[in-house]
Amino acid sequence: MAGFVKVSSDHPTTGPKASDAEVSRWLVPLADVRVDDELLAAVRDTVASGWWSAGPRVAEFERQFSDYCEADQAVAVSSGTAALHLAVLALDCGPGDEVVLPSLNFVAAANAVAVTGARPAFCDVGGGPNLNLSPVDLEATIGPATKALIVLHYGGNPCDMEAILEVAERHGLPIIEDAAHAPGAVWRGRKCGTIGRVGCFSFFSNKNLPTGEGGLVVTNDPELADRIRLLRSHGMTSLTWDRHRGHAHAYDVLEPGFNYRLDEIRAAIGLVELTRLEAENAARRRLAGRYRERLDGVKGIVFAFPARDDHVVSSQHLAVVLLPEGASRSDVQAALAKEGIQTSVHYPPIHTFTHYAALAQRPLPRTDEVASRLLTLPLFGHMTDEQLDYVTDRIIAALEDPVIAAAEG
Ligand SMILES: *Cc1c(COP(=O)(O)O)cnc(C)c1O
Repeated sequence: MAGFVKVSSDHPTTGPKASDAEVSRWLVPLADVRVDDELLAAVRDTVASGWWSAGPRVAEFERQFSDYCEADQAVAVSSGTAALHLAVLALDCGPGDEVVLPSLNFVAAANAVAVTGARPAFCDVGGGPNLNLSPVDLEATIGPATKALIVLHYGGNPCDMEAILEVAERHGLPIIEDAAHAPGAVWRGRKCGTIGRVGCFSFFSNKNLPTGEGGLVVTNDPELADRIRLLRSHGMTSLTWDRHRGHAHAYDVLEPGFNYRLDEIRAAIGLVELTRLEAENAARRRLAGRYRERLDGVKGIVFAFPARDDHVVSSQHLAVVLLPEGASRSDVQAALAKEGIQTSVHYPPIHTFTHYAALAQRPLPRTDEVASRLLTLPLFGHMTDEQLDYVTDRIIAALEDPVIAAAEG
């Protein structure tokens, strides 16, 4: 087949990895982490330090991440889902409340609402190449029980925050930014995650800043940050690390909370990855530009999001296309998989899942229209042009197959 090999499995510093056979199944994986000596040394030093749970590296990661985002407060947590859960709880959402969010999102945001007893209310997307929520439909979804809004910067492309801030202000509602795709993305000079009341990041392995599992909450509201810190660690007034350093001898419990803490090993990885984020995002943007050039308008393919918007910088977490109407996505995915190309769908809309379909909902025609056409292509900073061109050639070839192109589903 193509003349390239899996990029990350041949770095020189380690022996065979247990999962090599599994990992190398794809000639072009959907996402990939880069392993090198600096990263391995950071992990080794942390393990050797003998302190593995939250400590100085977590504090330093919070400090550096908040500096990078120009946010007053950062609270590192164990996952993006934990970040969303704590944000929803800290804004006092619970039984009887509604939280409005786009249905075209990962299910974590809806779950984070539902587990508090509040009800997720789904709004529609802009439609066509715009996969971010529609501010007009967001406002139409707001009702008397609405307590907060969750906005997703889909694929790292900043939402129309001007219109969204206006809606939020008119209704006196706080905005939670699901910034899982958007570390380093910029809207009018401000980092995504810092525009609303609270921003939630994910450091899952396939994200732009991977630590394995991990997440982080940013806010400029010190009281909200204190509440989130408390809930992160059982509602306790001091951390093990504080007591270890002799800064605290006892603790009180102010309200029931969780163990949603990040650990030192992941924080050490995060500190290294943070220094690489700008370069990673820039590489992704360049590759996305190449995808767009080679695919947009070809055989009815639409590359998601407008080519240029002077007010925003995307973190380009995803390369998403809309397949031509009538083409069979599953056949395209199968054809690409046969060529060693991994693809995905971001996302099956949340309102189509059994649990959420049972809730009475407003119609979401533009979400429904794009849902069956969405296809996510491989994208990671160290992907080669050769790999990308292989993907675009194979997808065009798949759509040249008359059976795939007109399968009506
Ligand atoms: C990854 C992701 C999450 C969840 O983050 P985890 O760290 O996996 O818990 C939530 N929302 C979106 C949009 C994501 O992409």
